[in-house]
Amino acid sequence: MVGLGITGLYAARWLAKQGAVVTVSEARSETELNSTTCKEVRKLGIALETGRHQEATFLKSEMIVLSPGVPHDMEPLRAAKKTGIPVTGELELSSRLIDTPMIAVTGTNGKSTVTALLGSLLKNASLKVFVGGNIGTPLIAYVEGEEKADYVVVEVSSFQLDTIETLCPFISLLLNISPDHLDRYASYEDYAQSKLRIFMNQRPGQHVILNDDDEALSSVNPPSGVSVFRYGVKRKEGRHAYVQDKEIRASLSGGEHISFSFKSFRLPGKHNLENLLAVVLAGLILGIDPSVIQQTIGDFKGLPNRLEHVAKFEGVEFYNDSKATNVDAAVRAITSFDRPLILIAGGRHKGSDYARLVRAARGGVRKAIFLGESRELLASSFEGVVPFLMAENMDEAVSIAFSQADRGDAVLLAPACSSFDMFSDYAHRGIAFRSAVERLSHG
Ligand code: ADP
Repeated sequence: MVGLGITGLYAARWLAKQGAVVTVSEARSETELNSTTCKEVRKLGIALETGRHQEATFLKSEMIVLSPGVPHDMEPLRAAKKTGIPVTGELELSSRLIDTPMIAVTGTNGKSTVTALLGSLLKNASLKVFVGGNIGTPLIAYVEGEEKADYVVVEVSSFQLDTIETLCPFISLLLNISPDHLDRYASYEDYAQSKLRIFMNQRPGQHVILNDDDEALSSVNPPSGVSVFRYGVKRKEGRHAYVQDKEIRASLSGGEHISFSFKSFRLPGKHNLENLLAVVLAGLILGIDPSVIQQTIGDFKGLPNRLEHVAKFEGVEFYNDSKATNVDAAVRAITSFDRPLILIAGGRHKGSDYARLVRAARGGVRKAIFLGESRELLASSFEGVVPFLMAENMDEAVSIAFSQADRGDAVLLAPACSSFDMFSDYAHRGIAFRSAVERLSHG
């Protein structure tokens, strides 16, 4: 088992319980790891190799299972693949052991939101549902658990898709593809191709839901015989869900449509409306009563760190979109507002071009505040277009942002970069933002 995060722990434990002789190989040193996790692993009779991945460990294995974040091109893995040792991911391993129909969600952005929204919808429809994958609980936990669900809703990242062979969802949802993780893929085409793997094994009787507003997706064709449903915010030939007269209209057959109001939908921005269209289609495919779909639209509160409203202080609103770890998500965040913005951005650069961010910021962003490793790169992209200031840390970024804001403005954290330069993850960055805002309001 390569990697000892939550997925590594769950998968190693499950494998050991099946009688496999398991070694966990983890690049971080033992002092960097959670000591309870290490203890638990050892108690189960699992060997633990930390600090580096030893080629010998890989070569003596009969099967290698990867955690979602593990780079596929690291040397010991290459050596093992060359000798024909099977390498698989936790998602593929788990999916082979699950016969519950699966609803799989992928895309560059919106996966967690859509996965959580689907989970709520199925629960509201009194269906038993396991929600997991990239969003929190690994799929192998479902395999390990006793309780059977009617459906498994799983959030799938492109790294996980790279190692699938047989994964075959009952419904797959492909939300969008935009440049991301270019530090991990040889090219944008490679990254996009990996996302399309979600439907490669699907068969007649199964379904694909595609975002027709997304350029990369409007022309893709899933395997023949699989039913395809396309959505987009405007009405267009061939779309099964769209918005018209301030209502969502959806029809699986292309005939008479069902209308849903989204007045009570709390998630801001056009991108969240797109997410909702995908969920409405999935609900109709599952035969969920439209009244339950309507109820869920009004119930769902959104997830933390995704355009989350944090506070209002002296007439200035503060929004936390720490999960906007790529340019597209940050652009979507900026364009969701029709009031002047003070933007806080920056973090670890992931290889993307910031030109689109600058274009989105022109006009709407009164001032940008940059922090983190990418701040110089951002500054050179914004130079001469949008005024900006530099900050050393989140506290400083928030207080500068507030000092630049007028009543009625919003301060938006939408980093367009990952958090790993200064924080343990995006949630940690979100907490830092929230605390900085709280300190501000407590003087
Ligand atoms: P993921 O799990 O794919 O990272 P999240 O739901 O966690 O998706 O959202 C990640 C970021 O993308 C957040 O900043 C969120 O506001 C933004 N976002 C959500 N849905 C979309 C979408 N359909 N298109 C673009 N950005 C989106």
